[in-house]
Amino acid sequence: MRAPMVERARGTRDLDPAYLARHGHMEAAFRRTAAAFGFREVLPPTFEPLELFHRKAGPGIEQEMYVFKDRAGRDLVLRPELTAGVLRYYVNELTSAPKPIKVYSFGPTFRYEEPQRGRYREFWQYSCEVLGGSPVDADAEAIALAVKSIQATGVRQVTTRIGHIGMLRAWLKVDRERQNRILHALDKRNFEMLHAELDAAGLLDLEGTLRDLIGIQGGSEVLARASDVLGGVGGEGFDHLRRIAERLAAYGVRDFVFDMGVIRGLSYYTGMVFQIHSQNLGAEDQVGGGGSYALAELFGGDPIFSTGFAIGVDRIVLAAEAEGVAVPPPNLDAYVIPIGDAVRQKAFEITGNLRTTGLRIDVDLVGRGPSKNLDYANAMKARWAVLVGEKELANGNVALRNMETGEQREVPVAELASVLGMDKPHFQNGVEFH
Ligand code: AMP
Repeated sequence: MRAPMVERARGTRDLDPAYLARHGHMEAAFRRTAAAFGFREVLPPTFEPLELFHRKAGPGIEQEMYVFKDRAGRDLVLRPELTAGVLRYYVNELTSAPKPIKVYSFGPTFRYEEPQRGRYREFWQYSCEVLGGSPVDADAEAIALAVKSIQATGVRQVTTRIGHIGMLRAWLKVDRERQNRILHALDKRNFEMLHAELDAAGLLDLEGTLRDLIGIQGGSEVLARASDVLGGVGGEGFDHLRRIAERLAAYGVRDFVFDMGVIRGLSYYTGMVFQIHSQNLGAEDQVGGGGSYALAELFGGDPIFSTGFAIGVDRIVLAAEAEGVAVPPPNLDAYVIPIGDAVRQKAFEITGNLRTTGLRIDVDLVGRGPSKNLDYANAMKARWAVLVGEKELANGNVALRNMETGEQREVPVAELASVLGMDKPHFQNGVEFH
């Protein structure tokens, strides 16, 4: 009797080589772009004190996280995102570092959510923060990095929506708690909840205005209209967005819309907010989002202008798949097949030499016959099979078989590396070329 199998934990995935090749391609594009923007990498721990997220989002947040006690009874949480840890790190250790501090982090994050396509309990985030910049410069820097990072993956079919929550806060003259609940309802487009919250605050007369406002989107021209809807309140916020648009144009980023419906109803957002949506992902279409926020003071630091974003790496992988973005596959360049025991040692020597060239090389580790080995090479999607036989070796050659066409020819062992490297496809910005 076999032992019963152990199922994967709900909401988690076993990631296969093809998926990880895509994931790795995204990671490389993100790191490359962050570095090009002068961001440096930091990485907070995978688990944090529960207190950190209580301070950030209140005790209710426990429902959405993996909370546990360690053996000494400490309350801990698997990080649901990277920003809080980075800000804790900043407040504890980096406050005297030269400003602005521009950092990015890349790693797995955990949320206790209802799993579905594009929504997992373990997923990867690429998260960037600018701490201590001036507001327009830093906000535009963050948006430009987010947009360019996604472009660098080869994903194109996305829409960047930029809004401003500060002017709504200025206009909603109620206490912060109530504001947060109203904004949360707006963010979720939960109009029943919105009605109830406004009713409780005695602000029902604002309901129509709020519903009008979140429908406003377009180019810079809609900012004046939105400002009118708010009766001129929040003018600074609209001016801020206009200046961000100018700066983004200088960076060559023009492909975005202003959208007053981008709310991001979390209490720590203070000003500009933005979201990036894929046009191909259905319900879970938000591939990234961010804005300016006030967290340092919640973690025991002095206020500092903070802005940033997080991109969901898994959703970028899905978006890339949907668009047919080409990434280097995890396939072998060549599989080396010894024909008979007498040449086995030599076949391993050839393998060892080829493995120093940067090509992906494998060799028969089972001792199979040539035809079984060709089946394996095929299954591994090797581009070439290198057949090492006594007869060819006597002339210093091996037989090289193109696994796609089946063509076979003799090649001197000394030239093998250059022949295998020659027609290797290259990939750039999601396009394959030879
Ligand atoms: P947030 O911190 O909620 O703004 O999330 C940042 C990004 O992470 C989102 O825009 C999504 O792309 C991604 N994301 C959030 N939650 C999940 C999840 N449960 N599974 C996969 N990706 C997620």
